[in-house]
Amino acid sequence: MNRIDEHPRFGHHLSEAIVDGIVIVDETGVIRHVNRRATSLTGYSREEIIDQDIDVLIPGRFRGSHVAHLSAYVEHSKTRHLGTSGNFTLQCRDGSEIDVDIALSPFEIDDKKWVTATIRDDRTHRARERSHDDVEQRFRLAFESNMAPMMFHDHENRVIAVNDAFCQMIGRSRDELVGLDSSAYTHPEDLGITEATHDRLTSGEVSQARYVKRYLHKDGRVVVVEVLKAPARDAAGNTLYYVLSQRDITEERALTEQLSHQALHDPLTGLANRALFDDRLTQALARAARFGDLGAVLLLDLDDFKGVNDTYGHVVGDQLLRSVAQRLEEITRNSDTLCRFGGDEFLYLAEALDSPEEAHDLAQRVLRTFTEPFSVAGTLLQLAVSIGIVLWDGPGTSTTEVIQNADIALYEAKRKGKSRSVFFTANMQLKATSRFALTQQLRLALHSGELEMHYQPIIDLRTSEIVGFEALMRWHHAEHGWVPPNVFIALAEESELILEIGMFALRESIKALTWWDTTSVHGHPPFVTVNLSLRQFHDPELVSTIAHALSTSGLEPSRLILEITESVTLLEIGETLNVIERLKALGVAIALDDFGTGYSSLSYLTLLQPRIIKIDQSFVSPMHESVQNNTLLEAIVSLGRNLSMIVIAEGIESQAQLERLRQVGCDLGQGYFFARAMTIEELKAFVEENRGRWAGSNYQLRLTD
Ligand code: C2E
Ligand code: MG
Ligand code: MG
Repeated sequence: MNRIDEHPRFGHHLSEAIVDGIVIVDETGVIRHVNRRATSLTGYSREEIIDQDIDVLIPGRFRGSHVAHLSAYVEHSKTRHLGTSGNFTLQCRDGSEIDVDIALSPFEIDDKKWVTATIRDDRTHRARERSHDDVEQRFRLAFESNMAPMMFHDHENRVIAVNDAFCQMIGRSRDELVGLDSSAYTHPEDLGITEATHDRLTSGEVSQARYVKRYLHKDGRVVVVEVLKAPARDAAGNTLYYVLSQRDITEERALTEQLSHQALHDPLTGLANRALFDDRLTQALARAARFGDLGAVLLLDLDDFKGVNDTYGHVVGDQLLRSVAQRLEEITRNSDTLCRFGGDEFLYLAEALDSPEEAHDLAQRVLRTFTEPFSVAGTLLQLAVSIGIVLWDGPGTSTTEVIQNADIALYEAKRKGKSRSVFFTANMQLKATSRFALTQQLRLALHSGELEMHYQPIIDLRTSEIVGFEALMRWHHAEHGWVPPNVFIALAEESELILEIGMFALRESIKALTWWDTTSVHGHPPFVTVNLSLRQFHDPELVSTIAHALSTSGLEPSRLILEITESVTLLEIGETLNVIERLKALGVAIALDDFGTGYSSLSYLTLLQPRIIKIDQSFVSPMHESVQNNTLLEAIVSLGRNLSMIVIAEGIESQAQLERLRQVGCDLGQGYFFARAMTIEELKAFVEENRGRWAGSNYQLRLTD
């Protein structure tokens, strides 16, 4: 037999070979055939199930509807295929139920209708489906209640879904967000980040992207987030949407910024510190080396800061530094860096200058910020600043070199007199010595005879006779030549050295007067004025030492005049007045030096009651003649008059200046027009030579009360 399908056992074998269960029922619903798979699925043996109604395989709750179905089905038989047949439940012999898929296939033999039911065990598939549901459920839970703000984006960066944490983070509801373009809540400056990241992801350059961007909270706050954006793909690798999980790092950022700010800024003033300045300077120098940019560093040093600190204490000193920093900050350009270099020193880095004049203008601007006094702790404090400037416009300079050179230029500025700026030049470097070394040398100079007092004649402007002289200290340094008092006195003032030096000046000056006593000019005993520094004024020994020096020399105390500056008003006023009273009691007069430049307040003038005021040379020989200046000069002289004080003009350099002073009625004067300060020997000769030279009237001087 060639045709296997005609063999009587063919049907049996075929049925047994099928992996699904086969059950054939007749038109009354009685089971007439089952294959082995059907018995193993149901748990019935062939013998038990054959000739049973199909109902035994149907759970009781479905039986009613099944009967109706079956008869309708037999009437209008249609083939139903596996997979499209829907889900059935099969009742097994032991009463258990299993999910199955059933395909029904009717056929007719000899006018009798039959139905083949092919039964496929659907349990694994359904279990898989169920577990898929589970996964989705779990995922949804994980997404929605995750503490991390999360969302899904479509290809156009529109929100598909967001979780609560995200909504909370940017203060918008889910309804507001879904469908919204991310640009609607992204910080405008960060829109580019979103786009760039998107491009990198879509081009396949990266498989996921991590980046930081800023969102805008509904209330306007900026929220900084770290984002991890990854595409979700289907089995074929196509991107379905993007998953963004994020972390709010706003506070963390703020803290990091604060920490790095602390590491790079001066805690007192908030200005850049040395580390930051060094960094900026290094970059500026690198740019200069590459492109030839012109840059400058200005080193600023407050001239009178130490006195304030010593007198008022550090709290006031600190407050003053803060005010100074604030004023300097106001004139600092955006492209420049201002740094507190330490103590009372500041550094200003100016970049991309057009010309050296620009650096000069900058320095002028800095100097001008100090013209107004600072109001600290209810007191007005007048400060001055000296500036050293270094320029560069090419390669070959290091940061240390720049700062060293700025220091040398600063020293030069102080040397020339305070409150000015000086550019560094190469030949300065040769002269420069460290300030520390200079202090050491000054100590030695006092004992080796390098320090000497010189005397500048003071002239009665009406009679033109020499009525006294001011003692000014000179230091002829073995190596550096003349070191100006503005430099070495300031150095000495930084330590107790000033007390020794001050006593030296007093003793020498008193000695000098003893000479003149015997030579007496026009019968009036001349006087000497000696400069006292603030620190000496503080010295509890001052009055007794002066008393002692006077008594041992036998000098008439009224011939000694002590010059103090208005900075003594920095001291506790009660103490100041006490010292002044004791000096006056000795018979020694007080002159207020540099009047008009300092802390000048008229109330101090009446409080201190000096016998003499010395008008500062900036009023006498001003850099620029002005009506205002003339008026001031006149005002100071008449003020002195009205308070019965003697007025001495300092720094008379020309006949014209002398004439003007005479016109306004100034009593006395000194200046290069008459004579510079000179040694005692030179002074003797000078007095001899000029005896009567300026003589005129018989104006009588009374220098003490
Ligand atoms: P000062 O007390 O105001 O002295 C006047 C300064 O003006 C002196 O400078 C003097 O040489 C200078 N001068 C005099 N006439 C003219 C002039 O016509 N034109 C110009 N441009 N300047 C003139 P010097 O000697 O350099 O002293 C500077 C400052 O150093 C003094 O200012 C004083 O504050 C301080 N100093 C000098 N000697 C001593 C001292 O023995 N003890 C203390 N504590 N300070 C001193
Ligand atoms: Mg003086
Ligand atoms: Mg003076």
